[in-house]
Amino acid sequence: MIKYDPKSLKAEEFINDAEILETLRFADEHKNDMEYISSVIEKAKLRKGLSHREASVLLACEDEEKIKEIYDLAEQIKKDFYGNRIVMFAPLYLSNYCVNGCLYCPYHLKNKHIARKKLTQQEVANEVVALQDMGHKRLAIEAGEDPVNNPIEYILECIKTIYSIKHKNGAIRRVNVNIAATTVDNYRKLKEAGIGTYILFQETYHKESYEYLHPTGPKHNYAYHTEAMDRAMQGGIDDVGLGVLFGLDKYRYEFAGLLMHAEHLEAVHGVGPHTISLPRVKHADDIDPDDFDNSISDEVFCKIAACIRIAVPYTGMIISTRENPQVREQIIRLGVSQISGGSRTSVGGYCEEERPHDTEQFDVSDNRTLDEVVNWLMSAGYIPSFCTACYREGRTGDRFMSLCKSGQIQNCCHPNALMTLKEFLMDYASADTREKGEALIEKELANIGSDKVREIVKERLVKIENGERDFRF
Ligand code: SAM
Repeated sequence: MIKYDPKSLKAEEFINDAEILETLRFADEHKNDMEYISSVIEKAKLRKGLSHREASVLLACEDEEKIKEIYDLAEQIKKDFYGNRIVMFAPLYLSNYCVNGCLYCPYHLKNKHIARKKLTQQEVANEVVALQDMGHKRLAIEAGEDPVNNPIEYILECIKTIYSIKHKNGAIRRVNVNIAATTVDNYRKLKEAGIGTYILFQETYHKESYEYLHPTGPKHNYAYHTEAMDRAMQGGIDDVGLGVLFGLDKYRYEFAGLLMHAEHLEAVHGVGPHTISLPRVKHADDIDPDDFDNSISDEVFCKIAACIRIAVPYTGMIISTRENPQVREQIIRLGVSQISGGSRTSVGGYCEEERPHDTEQFDVSDNRTLDEVVNWLMSAGYIPSFCTACYREGRTGDRFMSLCKSGQIQNCCHPNALMTLKEFLMDYASADTREKGEALIEKELANIGSDKVREIVKERLVKIENGERDFRF
């Protein structure tokens, strides 16, 4: 039997099947033990996180009262660490050429019916202008895996193009990257290109399912994929984003694996994941989500989010437009800190009048414009934030985490959210959104703890009115 060791650099030792199975057994054994569950909730209240075993018991618990306690705590922890801010981003699809055979993804090599497209640098620039005109400042670039069509040089060139475009008052200030697992050298190059977070979804932590779902191509290699974050960190990237594609395998297994991965990164590199994404399998071109029999209900989805929130309080949580507005509203409350808005999941989609479907990676369930999403967030009591300050101020990895843990982050994030929202209102918002936003900023100024910081923010808001941009703490 392979030994469990969170400090090991071998995939099957830090994501250890026997340990996950034992965790699930432990969770079943304790899921009705109210005394134990109460003690885990008490521990979570200390805001120092939970182990994968403890959190797995909470996820297995079916007692309505205890679930309510978990939800209330998740909501409170979200408020304590992230306030009422929600950071906005958009995906940018560069190329859907792919040599892998992923059974759930329409970009798989055998799909001869989907149109293949790779953006030229001019097209990248056009997409960036369209994204800037919506008001976006933060992107996640996406590409299939294809060493010939999408080599690392192509990705680096695209990043350079994206950062170089300054259209009107627009700018993309942070590029996160979601591309296939690669080498330490390539991760170093991405770091040098100034990326924010490197995001890679594990898809499933269950090795056998993983190999079945990725029958061909480089992504078939479970260990290479699972160990990618260690290589990224060796290459100098200290903000990494985890995720599993819910629906592929049993959610309780995935949940334990996800937390074990976070524990592993903390144990080896001294810093856990910057973000955890929560995607669910969606319909797409030749993909029918019903072909995967592990789909989860909205209820379970929310429970997973709440348990993640209290198990890893310092890790941002991301929800995309794979989810509809109703689910997004529910789940944001339970701990999500970042959402996409106005997204197009097709290659070149932002330059099209209508949402194109021919190269789409998955169907989008929230079809609202960015302005509508911003307006909706404000109505629901949130501050949409276009802040990108942390990594530009060198607050990444353990420096970000220690700031977060000390509570100091509030003095940066809250004012930065208000100032970047103000930019959005001045440059891109509809009249109604602007009116709501101005009132919100006025109200939220009072929530800046330090008098000095509040005065500086007020001065800067006037400067933004007068055309200056890009202030940050
Ligand atoms: N190709 C890269 C890789 O190998 O990791 C990542 C880019 S891919 C464009 C981004 C993510 O979309 C994948 O990691 C997968 O989890 C998700 N995805 C693929 N097919 C999907 C589907 N049908 N529904 C929802 N999400 C999907």
